[in-house]
Formats: sequence, C-alpha cells, structure tokens
Amino acid sequence: MKIGNDVSILKYYGDSETLWLKYIQSQLFYNEISILDRKIELDRNSPLLTLNPFLDENKILRVGGRLANAAIEFNRKFSIIIKAHPLVTLLIRYFHRKCLHGETQLTLSLLRQNFQLIRGRQTVKSVIYKCIPCAPIRADISNELMGALPKNRTTRLTRHFTHVGIDYAGPVQVTIHRGREYKSHSGNIAVFICFATRAIYLELVSDYTTEAFLVALKRFVSRRGYLTRFTVIEGRISKVLVANVTKLSKG
Ligand SMILES: [Zn+2]
Repeated sequence: MKIGNDVSILKYYGDSETLWLKYIQSQLFYNEISILDRKIELDRNSPLLTLNPFLDENKILRVGGRLANAAIEFNRKFSIIIKAHPLVTLLIRYFHRKCLHGETQLTLSLLRQNFQLIRGRQTVKSVIYKCIPCAPIRADISNELMGALPKNRTTRLTRHFTHVGIDYAGPVQVTIHRGREYKSHSGNIAVFICFATRAIYLELVSDYTTEAFLVALKRFVSRRGYLTRFTVIEGRISKVLVANVTKLSKG
C-alpha cells in the first residue's frame, strides 16, 4: 500500500475504518453476525430483528430496508448498526466536537447519517454528560428564594442617587505627575450605586484614608445632590469613615 498516493491514503483510511467497525460489531453482535453469515434467519427474540439487518460485502452489519433504489449514499440507505462500546464512545465524542459541542439531538442526528445507534439518545446523552467543556454550560443556575427587598429599594423617589450603596473597587495605581517627577501610588475607586435605578457613579479616591473618601464624596454630592441614606455594601470602608460619612449625609 502506497501511503504517498492520495487514492491509497483514502483506501487505507477506509480499510482501517472497516477494520475497527468489524471489531466493534464482532464484540457487540457476535451471535447475529455468525447467524447471518450462515444465511440463517435471526431468532425471533433478537433485539436486531426489527432492523432487518444484513451483512455487506465487508461483513459489516447494516440496517436493511426499502431504500435500495433511493438516490442517496449507501451509508445513509443502510446505516451501520452499533451500540454502547468504548470505541463507539470515541465516535460519539468525534461527532459531538464536530457540531461544536452540540446537544444530544444534534450529535445524534449527525451520527445517524451513517450509523444506527441502538438506545442512541440514552448513549449519546451519557457521553455528553461526561464532556468537560460542556460542564459549565450544563451547570444549574442558582435559584435561591430571595428575602424581601428593603424599603429604600422599593420606595418611589423624586430623583436617583437618593438612596446609595457605597463600595470600593481596586486598588488601582494613580499617577500624579508625569515626566521627570513621575510619582504613582495606590488608590481606590469609590462605587456609588443607586438603590432604586441601579445606576452607578464612580469617583477616584486618592488613598485609603477617611479624608480622601470625604473629598470623593463631596465631588459626588456636588454632581448628584445630597444623599438621604447610604449603605456600605462591603466592609472595606472603616468604621471611622462610616461615622464621618453618616455625619455628612445628615447634613
Ligand atoms: Zn461537549
């Protein structure tokens, strides 16, 4: 067999495919193949009886039917019979990847273009269930029962940013001077979240002190007006800061 020749490569590929399919079928349907090879009819209790199976010229077990004269590919007319097997699992994985990790129905429909998989849906589903790239998509979204919303999230307001939640994001590097006197230090971003509309307002806080936050808060108030109430969402803002801001918000 010449590997350098394209036709030979295809033949080589086809031969190896035939070899492995025969190997799989000899393990799965040994009795049926030996009966059909001797030109004897299958037993009435055989699970393959309804498929009207026959052996092709390569002794591969295929589904029989009435499509002999149909103008479609031989593999589609007479699908190759397979069922759950470690090598069939590899085949299912191949089709599953070919349809870009499609769901059971899509993978099965691709597989059915050439193969008749017994208990197909169940087998394909069990293979896809173990697919690692599909695991995050399959994960259940948490659906916990949430508590009642606080009053300040449901009260009708005259303007937004009246009830505000405050949190810090960061730290971020803040550059004060560029050029020869280049200086940078660690700062934070204060995130102001309107409880009624979920609008977000960001202010830079130059350092992690109360004074720096109060400056940022004054900038916020000058743009958005006085707050009626604020809530510290995360505990990174110190108690001293909270006390100062409480004083400020009360006016
Ligand atoms: Zn997948």
